[in-house]
Amino acid sequence: MSAELSDLYQNVILDHNRRPRNRGRIPSANRSAHGDNPSCGDQCDVFLRLDGDRIAEISFEGSGCAISQASASLMTTQLKGKTAAEAEKLYGQFHEIVTTGKEPEDMSDLGAFAGVHAFPARIKCATLSWHAALNALRGDPVPATTESHLD
Ligand code: ZN
Repeated sequence: MSAELSDLYQNVILDHNRRPRNRGRIPSANRSAHGDNPSCGDQCDVFLRLDGDRIAEISFEGSGCAISQASASLMTTQLKGKTAAEAEKLYGQFHEIVTTGKEPEDMSDLGAFAGVHAFPARIKCATLSWHAALNALRGDPVPATTESHLD
C-alpha cells in the first residue's frame, strides 16, 4: 500500500471495515434501495425503518472496496435517528468533505473520508451508500447509481 493510500485508509475507515456497524437486513424495514458503482464493482443495499419522518433503524448489506463498505457502515451510524431533511443536509456535508478534502469543523468521523478527494475515482465509492440511503428515504423505486447526475 502506498503512503498516499495508507493516508486515505485512516483508522476510522479501517475500523469500520473490520467491524461493520448495522450490517444485515432489518426485518421491519419499510424502505430500501440498491446502489451500484460499476466503475469499481461496489454494491450496496440500504434498509431503513422510517417512523414518521425519522430514521428509527438503518442498516446495509454490500460488497466492494474498503472505502465503499466503510462509508456504508459509517453512514448508518450517522443517519440513525435523523429526519429526512437532516439526512440530506448531512450528505451535503459529506459530499463537500470527499470532493474538497475540507475536514469538518466539528471533528465528525465523516472527516476520515477527506483523503478521498485526492482520488477522484474513489469519490463514487464513498458516496454510493449515501445515494442509496437518500433514495430509500425519498421512496424512490429507481435504483441508485453513481453513473448519473446523482453525484
Ligand atoms: Zn469502490
